[in-house]
Amino acid sequence: MNKNKKRTGIQPNIQPNTHPTTHSTLRRGILVAILAALLYSCGTVAFTGRKQMLLFSDSQITELSKSSYKEFMSSAKISTSKKDSQMLVQVGKRMTEALEAYLKKSGNEGALSGITWDYKLVASKEVNAFCMPSGNIVFYEGILQYANTPDYIAVVMGHEMAHAIAKHGNERMSQQAALNVLGSAAGEVIGSTKGTAAKKLFMAGFGMGSQVGILLPYSRKHEYEADRIGLYLMAIAGYDIEAAPKFWEKMASKDETSGKENSSQNDFFSTHPCDSKRIEALREALPEARKYIGL
Ligand SMILES: [Zn+2]
Repeated sequence: MNKNKKRTGIQPNIQPNTHPTTHSTLRRGILVAILAALLYSCGTVAFTGRKQMLLFSDSQITELSKSSYKEFMSSAKISTSKKDSQMLVQVGKRMTEALEAYLKKSGNEGALSGITWDYKLVASKEVNAFCMPSGNIVFYEGILQYANTPDYIAVVMGHEMAHAIAKHGNERMSQQAALNVLGSAAGEVIGSTKGTAAKKLFMAGFGMGSQVGILLPYSRKHEYEADRIGLYLMAIAGYDIEAAPKFWEKMASKDETSGKENSSQNDFFSTHPCDSKRIEALREALPEARKYIGL
């Protein structure tokens, strides 16, 4: 459970460094605060049950996400293809509604705290898609040449939704914050969205800001977890889970034939490397995912 609200009250009280003893007391105070923060900030990933460190509250992450998303959308062009936009919204609604119904039935509605789903297709040839931690899902027109059926769209959408559900963004920022705190920045970083430190971390974590709309790759661990949860989401919504390994195989072969020169540094190909291990892991997760069909 995320108990950040309680934790924010234990910020180290930074006093002027008048003599060496004060300095070491301060350092000890910071370390105690960090330990307390770590103890009280354990989260559990929905579906996989993995424990994770979450130093930021859902509302902090949502606030930061919304402002980055707004910035992105202010310069993005919405697709003029009604047919494609409708298909995207249809898949999105079917997936999110099925997920919400499933979580309600299993008494886990809290898993979506801070998330409000929204689906946008933007006019861009770039092969990309992302989901902000706040639930804003964006597909670029370019990815629809690969995700060209509702099942394939569900593969990409399920994967991107999974990053948000599993709070991978918060976890990545928390890991970075813990490193920063251990370095020196202490109290300024955690517990504040107004402060520039949290914003900087968010920008660094998501690559938003100077290059809006560009998301940094997640770690391999997060990618595999998102693949797995994505499969469960497809199964819950009644999509063909076999489409997932097929989609990644298709991506892998396209990647080989088109060559890396066609893929920009931050598109879906580069942030989602599809090798044989990834496809193998997806196949291995299929039997588990089948258990979610009809739930
Ligand atoms: Zn991903």
